[in-house]
Amino acid sequence: MQVPDDGRAVFDAGLIQRYDRPGPRYTSYPTAVQFHPGFGVDEYVAAARASNAPGRDGVVRPLSLYVHVPFCASPCFYCGCNKVITRDHSKAALYLDRLYREIERQGALYDKSRPVNQLHFGGGTPTFLSTRQIAELLEKMRRHFALTNAPDREYSIEIDPRTIDLDRLEELSKLGFNRVSLGVQDFDAAVQVAVNRVQSCEGTLALISRAREVGIESVSVDLIYGLPKQNRTTFARTLDLVIDARPDRIATYSYAHLPHLFKPQRQIRTADLISAAEKLGLLELTVQKLSDAGYVYVGMDHFALPTDELVRAQRAGTLHRNFQGYSTQAECDLVAFGVSSISKVGDAYAQNAKTLNDYYAAIDAGGLAVRRGVQLTRDDRIRRDVIQRLMCATRLSFEEVEAEHGIVFEEYFLGELEQLRPLEADGLVRNEDRGLVVTGRGRLLMRNVAMPFDAHLPEAQPVAPGETPRFSRAV
Ligand code: SF4
Repeated sequence: MQVPDDGRAVFDAGLIQRYDRPGPRYTSYPTAVQFHPGFGVDEYVAAARASNAPGRDGVVRPLSLYVHVPFCASPCFYCGCNKVITRDHSKAALYLDRLYREIERQGALYDKSRPVNQLHFGGGTPTFLSTRQIAELLEKMRRHFALTNAPDREYSIEIDPRTIDLDRLEELSKLGFNRVSLGVQDFDAAVQVAVNRVQSCEGTLALISRAREVGIESVSVDLIYGLPKQNRTTFARTLDLVIDARPDRIATYSYAHLPHLFKPQRQIRTADLISAAEKLGLLELTVQKLSDAGYVYVGMDHFALPTDELVRAQRAGTLHRNFQGYSTQAECDLVAFGVSSISKVGDAYAQNAKTLNDYYAAIDAGGLAVRRGVQLTRDDRIRRDVIQRLMCATRLSFEEVEAEHGIVFEEYFLGELEQLRPLEADGLVRNEDRGLVVTGRGRLLMRNVAMPFDAHLPEAQPVAPGETPRFSRAV
């Protein structure tokens, strides 16, 4: 029997297996693979200065600031992030010293009148810094950028529950953070030992409920499926505990075991790994449980309560995707600070030096730390817009894209629409009324729907059998 398509994510194991191949997550387009050293500090400075000009509507664009704190006290074995493992907290002071200078130099590029609607502290582990250090960092930022206390601000910080207690959460709220995201991954003790991340379930749940009491408006929880030692029974328990705590958002990431790329993963015992079929079963369980509990699948591993602004923005067609995932702040320029961080300013992306030594050397030399990036071409801008619409609104109207970019959609994307035909036949996407709609069956495979529009993908894909893929798989 044909199930009517109401846009809700549909789990179809056969379909997912068939489409499960490496692909970008499209937190940017072009993706970071296209960043090159020919785009450096001068190009970034030019993009930053140009971004101060008012837009077509005569309004200056607000800012979104991102601060990267790379330190972690111990390695979680599944982790593929760019981080520095240390228990030496004096390293934080050396880092902050460079960060302050970078904030000052970047602050000189942007009009102070541009409101900072969004602020995000990510890592690594931002809570590796003491509350006093975070307060000082915010103070420094306030001197150079227009931070706000407006109730609609989105000021968030990633929290490692192992590093903070209930009082500290309240201190962060008083400093102005009104959103937190907590790393949980799995509450099961055997899984926690297998991935070297032991954290108390009670302590984590207490933080979630305390967050509400101290005025944190949005709580997000990160889970991972596919970890060693996971099984349906224990992961169901983790899901139930998280669902009962009712966080506003739940992100469920897929674990990709790539020990040749990520050294910490070599610590995972092969015997503890679960099979691809078991992993798929965990995804099915996750989709089912979260949907039954009233969570809406936003896309790319993210679920949210229907009242959450991500869901409301998706329905209104104003959702946006950036390096922190989904966001409602489409109009902001993103200015990033710290090692390896990526800015998105106007039609350019710029990435800072990827190692601490290189980052320190650039700042100590008196300049900025941008090491590579990319300036979008007109074609990139058109394709970015199409991919954003598909990944965020899950639909697009040819007419709207034509009005925005002065193209005839069917002519410009003749080949791409042709490539979509098999996906249409499989029911992942509908081409109707001069528009595209990602169906419920396509929601878990959104990036496959977007990939035909990626002009850079053929050059980014591995060329030889056995070569390492540059992107994670769809599931
Ligand atoms: S998962 Fe988070 S806390 Fe663990 S090593 Fe990676 S960045 Fe650090």
